[in-house]
Amino acid sequence: MHPNAGSRTAVALVVVASSSHGGSRIDSPLFLFMNTLPTIRIQSSYLFEERFNMRPITKKEIKEYTVAWKKHEAVLLLAMQNVTGLYFAQNIIDVYVVNPDMIGGLSDPLIIGGGMTPQRFICVLAHELVHRLMFDNTKKVDWHKSAWKIWKKEEHLVAHHVVVHAILEQICLDASLVKMLSEDKEIAARSKNAYNQAWEIVKKEGYKNIIAKLKSYK
Ligand SMILES: [Zn+2]
Repeated sequence: MHPNAGSRTAVALVVVASSSHGGSRIDSPLFLFMNTLPTIRIQSSYLFEERFNMRPITKKEIKEYTVAWKKHEAVLLLAMQNVTGLYFAQNIIDVYVVNPDMIGGLSDPLIIGGGMTPQRFICVLAHELVHRLMFDNTKKVDWHKSAWKIWKKEEHLVAHHVVVHAILEQICLDASLVKMLSEDKEIAARSKNAYNQAWEIVKKEGYKNIIAKLKSYK
């Protein structure tokens, strides 16, 4: 049980999801897991915009991103915790959306560029939350460091993203976000960068095998 679970608002069986992919099991009893989920607070930051001289994000844009994310939030967060066996250390995670001219994101502090479509925003936020879960969890393990050791011939950026992408693949399938997943792979393939190398390794080794490796890694 999450140490902060008691302070969370209990959520009844709002989501009745079951995985048809066999790998992750978000099929029973969800109410035990729902109150371990962090609250994700998506917001703009006037201080950020002012200090770093950025074009402001509008309230309308924040609302669009929030509405898009909330539709999938519970299933994605449940799947993240369920497939990894890790729980978020924090029960509130602040997400700052900044700069409508930027894409991509950072996991700590969690900052997302405001220049993306709502679908791409969901994908990038899920990606950054997977990073966060990998290093800031109640088990106090760091799957980034484990990844360096498992894929030692790869650059750290590639090794990290082998794990992030394997988890992303599993949770997108659980959440029926197949198009979003394909888009992420296509963007990486076009750039031919570390992210694409990581997707290639996931394809070769299989996302389930990769997650299993991390779970059993000592
Ligand atoms: Zn990343």
